[in-house]
Amino acid sequence: MAFENGIIDFRSDTVTHPTKAMRTAMASAPIGDDVYGEDPTINTLEKKSAELLGKEAGLFTPSGTMANLIAVLTHCGRGDEAVMGDNGHTFLHEVGGISALGGVFPQLVPNLPDGTLSLEDIKRAIRIDDIHHPETKLFILENTQNHCGGYPITREYLKSVSEIVKPEDISLHIDGARIFNASMALGEVPSDLVESADSVMFCLSKGLCAPVGSVLCGSKEFIKKSRKIRKQLGGGMRQAGILGAAGIIALDEMIDRLDKDHDRAKMIADGLEDLPGITLDKGYPQTNMVFIEILDDHNISSDTLIAEMAEEGILIGMSGPRNFRFVTHYWINDDDVQKFIQKFRQLMG
Ligand SMILES: *Cc1c(COP(=O)(O)O)cnc(C)c1O
Repeated sequence: MAFENGIIDFRSDTVTHPTKAMRTAMASAPIGDDVYGEDPTINTLEKKSAELLGKEAGLFTPSGTMANLIAVLTHCGRGDEAVMGDNGHTFLHEVGGISALGGVFPQLVPNLPDGTLSLEDIKRAIRIDDIHHPETKLFILENTQNHCGGYPITREYLKSVSEIVKPEDISLHIDGARIFNASMALGEVPSDLVESADSVMFCLSKGLCAPVGSVLCGSKEFIKKSRKIRKQLGGGMRQAGILGAAGIIALDEMIDRLDKDHDRAKMIADGLEDLPGITLDKGYPQTNMVFIEILDDHNISSDTLIAEMAEEGILIGMSGPRNFRFVTHYWINDDDVQKFIQKFRQLMG
């Protein structure tokens, strides 16, 4: 079920188009001015999101990047320290916004191959009360952990982290861009999975197929402050219900099917694993991402591979000089996966 133009796009789940049901709902969504708090569709979306994650309140944002930034600016003041994984999205891919716009000081802890940070490293990262130190105010964990192979992080682990940081008055934020992929893979109820977090953001615009938007969830007081910071950043939107209508369908209809994407990621891994020129880069897929590395003794260039696949209407993206990441989503079905495996094997043969 490639896109209408026949393209099969494995580069990311951000490329997903809205479904027909989303387009219909968007066209007829009840709307109002959301900066006045008067958009009924956004109010419904924020309430539903908060309920789903077991938090008091939600805030619709234009992007996941802004939702993470708002969370950091709400938890931390200028000169405070936020601790995060060195393979985390906030460190790697958010343009240094927390420092540029918030004066927040990042401390990095190495991500282990399963996406977690070691509990020992977490304890070590917390600053003691010393005139020379910034104050550690926040830990950010990512779930699923994109750059570690899309690994889901367990509830038990998150609880252990919270037991370390809570007594120190440090908050825990979850970058849950793909939190529903994590809950699906782990067989957890989403609200249970994030119960230890003070705040969590998730993307509507990735595997859930909405065209735009993320939601930040937390306590009423946290979201009240966050709403003001969103406005400060220029993220107050007016008749946003047009977008929110797609978000509601994303929550109602698109979460329960994510296991299909996970099955298809495994199909890809199974279909390519025995090829002599490649190795599975970050282990066997746990959610909707497959990472491979082309071994040095294979003479095909990455550019050739991308170009030859594109000739067939299949788009793939690099995750390193000889590395690729294939992401499955709603717009890729079993036939698309088979076509991809066949073409890929032919090129590598
Ligand atoms: C995509 C993503 C974000 C940011 O979302 P945008 O909507 O693209 O700004 C944040 N964290 C993770 C882990 C992501 O994958």
